[in-house]
Amino acid sequence: MELYEQTIHDLQSQLQARQVSSAEITSSFLDRIASTDPSINAFITVTKEQALADAQAADQRLATDDCTPLTGIPVALKDIFLTEGVRTTCASKMLDNFIAPYDATAWAKMKSQGAVLLGKLNQDEFAMGSSCENSAFGPTRNPWNKDHIPGGSSGGSAAAIAAQQAVATLGTDTGGSIRQPASHCGCVGLKPTYGRVSRYGVIAYASSLDQVGPMTRDVTDAALLLGAIAGHDPKDSTSVDCPVPDYTAALPQGAKGLKIGLPKEYFIAGLDPDVQQAMDQAIAVYRKLGAEFVEVSLPHTNYAVATYYLIATAEASSNLARYEGVRFGHRAKDTAGLIDLMMQSRSEGFGAEVKRRIMLGTYALSSGYYDAYYIKAQRVRTLIQQDFIEAFKSVDLLLTPVAPTPAFKIGEKTADPLQMYLSDIFTIPVNLAGICGISVPAGISSNGLPIGLQLLGRPFGEETILRAAFDFEQATDWHTRKAAL
Ligand code: GLN
Repeated sequence: MELYEQTIHDLQSQLQARQVSSAEITSSFLDRIASTDPSINAFITVTKEQALADAQAADQRLATDDCTPLTGIPVALKDIFLTEGVRTTCASKMLDNFIAPYDATAWAKMKSQGAVLLGKLNQDEFAMGSSCENSAFGPTRNPWNKDHIPGGSSGGSAAAIAAQQAVATLGTDTGGSIRQPASHCGCVGLKPTYGRVSRYGVIAYASSLDQVGPMTRDVTDAALLLGAIAGHDPKDSTSVDCPVPDYTAALPQGAKGLKIGLPKEYFIAGLDPDVQQAMDQAIAVYRKLGAEFVEVSLPHTNYAVATYYLIATAEASSNLARYEGVRFGHRAKDTAGLIDLMMQSRSEGFGAEVKRRIMLGTYALSSGYYDAYYIKAQRVRTLIQQDFIEAFKSVDLLLTPVAPTPAFKIGEKTADPLQMYLSDIFTIPVNLAGICGISVPAGISSNGLPIGLQLLGRPFGEETILRAAFDFEQATDWHTRKAAL
C-alpha cells in the first residue's frame, strides 16, 4: 500500500517504529497532490515549503519520546481556518490576499502536537453552500466522478481525503458542511457538539451554529483527531469546560445493547432508492451487532430548513459586516468617499450567494420584520431542540440518512438556490439543536457514488456515536472502497 493511502493510526505505528519518516510521507502526499489536484481542485493553497520544514521538525521530534498520535502526520485545513503566515481566503475574492496573523485554536493544537500542514482547502465562499460550487477559486470535483459535486461547504476537505491527498482534514459544519461532503465522498465526517471544539480563529459564518470537526478515512482517525482538537479554550467563550475523554478508548465497546431511534420524518417517500437501500442494509447490520431499533418522531423537522435560513443568514449578515474594505479584505479602487469605498469593496469582493444571504439576513433583522421572522425562528429552534431532547429520553442515538440523494451533478442545482437549500434537510436540525453527528460510509449508489449514514448523539455524546460507527465499520467494508482516479 502506498503511504498516501493510509490512516493516521497506520502511519503513526510505522513512524514510531522508524520504518518511515514524516519527510517521506509528506513527499508522498505532495506528489499525490501535484498529480491529482489539477483535475479535482481540492486545494486553494499548497504549502509545500512549510510542509517539508514541518516534516523535518517532526522527524526530529519522533527521535525523542515527545510524540503524539499526530506527530509527523500530513493534514490539510478548510480555508476557513486562520493559519499564521499562510494565506487564508475562505474561498472569497474578499480575502484573496489575506495572510492570517495567528492560528485558529484547533490548528494550533494540531500543530503543537506535530501535525504537518499540506495546505488550505477549497470550500463554498464563507461556508455558504452545499456543493463547493460557490467558490471564487472554481468548483471542487468529486474524485468518484468528476462531473459531480463533492458536497459542501467543506467539499475540498472531503475530496482531498477521497483523492488521497491528505491523511485527514478539518472542516466546519454550520448546517451539514462536514457530514454531507463526507457522505458524498465516502469518508468519515464528525460534527461535534456545539461547544466541544473551539471556534477561535475560524472565520465566522453563523456563530450559534458553527462547529469544527475532523474528516478522516476511518472512525479511529476521527476519534483520534477529535481528541486532539477538543476542549475548553479561554479565547472562545462558547467552548465548554468539560473534560475531553479518550475517544479511542470508547470504540471497542461496540453497538451491542444500544437503543437506536429511527426518526420517521427522515425516512420519507422522496428518499433516493439507493439511499433507502443503504439505510435498510445498515439497520440490518446493526441488528446483527445486537442493537435494538425503535421508531421516534421529530415533529418539527419540516420547519428546520426555513428556521435555519433565517437564523444563519441573520448571523451571517452581522458577521460579514466586518468586510468593509477599510481594515482588511478587498479594497475597491477609484472610489468617491468612504461610503462608496465600502459599497464598491463589498460589491466586488463578495460572490452572488454571499450577497443573497447578507440581504436575506439583513431583511430578517430589520425593524418590523425582526419579530415576525427572526424571533419566530428562534422559537421554532427551541421546538426543534425539544424534539431531540424528547427522542433521547427513549434512545441512545438516532440513525438517519445524511442527504436525500448521492452527490448531484455540477451545475444541477445552481439555478435554483431553494433546491440546494432543501438538500440539507437531514443535517440542519442537528446544528439547530447543537447535538453531535457523524457520517460514515454505508454504501455505493448504482451510478458508483458513495452514500453515508448519519448517527446522531446527545450533547457531548460523541463516544456513543463513535463506538456505534466503529462497530459498523468493523462489520462492513464500505470505508475501504476507493475512488478510481
Ligand atoms: N449548506 C448549508 C448552507 O449553505 C450548510 C453550510 C455549512 O454547514 N457551512 O448554509
